Amino acid sequence: MSNPRVLITGGAGFIGSHLAAYFLDKGNDVIVMDNLLTGDVSNISHLFGKPGFEFVTHDVTGFVHVSGRLDTILHFASPASPIDYQEFPIQTLKVGSLGTHKALGLAREKNAKFLLASTSEVYGDPLIHPQPESYWGNVNPVGLRGVYDEAKRFAEAMTLAYHRRHQLDTRIVRIFNTYGSNMRLNDGRALPNFICQALRGEPLTIYGDGMQTRSFCHVSDLVEGIWCLLQSDETGPVNLGNPTEMTIREFAQQVLIATGSESAITFEDLPEDDPKVRQPDITRARELLGWQPKIELTEGLALTIPYFRDKVEKTDREVAIEF
Ligand code: UDP
Repeated sequence: MSNPRVLITGGAGFIGSHLAAYFLDKGNDVIVMDNLLTGDVSNISHLFGKPGFEFVTHDVTGFVHVSGRLDTILHFASPASPIDYQEFPIQTLKVGSLGTHKALGLAREKNAKFLLASTSEVYGDPLIHPQPESYWGNVNPVGLRGVYDEAKRFAEAMTLAYHRRHQLDTRIVRIFNTYGSNMRLNDGRALPNFICQALRGEPLTIYGDGMQTRSFCHVSDLVEGIWCLLQSDETGPVNLGNPTEMTIREFAQQVLIATGSESAITFEDLPEDDPKVRQPDITRARELLGWQPKIELTEGLALTIPYFRDKVEKTDREVAIEF
């Protein structure tokens, strides 16, 4: 019998590339589709040449054709950091709306299972804390984050419409702050910024007073959660994230300790609509999937820092050579 065949849109991105490696390891054939707007081939270069692995450069907002059978589509294509979706607002809206529509159409054509990567951003600046899946959110549609938040809300609605209207077998994962190797150094998120600043001995830039909270999940926990969600028959949205919540100040301190850096801390303006709190309620994932994260932040940082150290050294060497 041949291996199950999985398409991962956005598979050269941070989370997509981890999924590609994991699904290959589990005996699947994997097609990565990415237009490389924010993804990077170096995240998947170790997979080239492995049996069952294919890479296609394609923008999923246009018609998508994949020949042969497909069993599962993991739809992860989208800019996903505040800096990225502010730089690419229209592409972000298009991939969440048109791209999700195309990917769902392909799933219907192939009779494949479809999993949508959604986000804690659907809760906006939440008024309920921690956030359960039953919360409808507090999103500013015309703010700087609106392009991402509304695109993902539309994508969730579209996914459920295909489920209800066409009986497509669908899953929706709401992903909370996740970190690990294959993140871009300059994607503007707190973790890459703080680690790179700490490694370079530059001040860590805390936005606002740093009392806003986040909860950080290691990517290996997230990928396992996504695997469990696919094996389940839950079609409603499921939060996946690590419920250990901390202020951004505490987080910066943890990065300083983990890197052994003596960098100072500076305070900069808080970006528009920056959520004041964020913590996943993972009761549903615990009960339905028997899943919960295993990796606490200290361990996760120790796993992640060597990746950033290598990248920072390489990037700084290249910059030095250019001068
Ligand atoms: N942040 C910060 N300094 C940075 C980058 C981010 O203080 O250099 C803050 C940001 O304002 C937010 C939190 O860290 O409150 C997490 O930001 P991130 O971009 O990682 O993701 P978000 O959860 O906001 O989507």
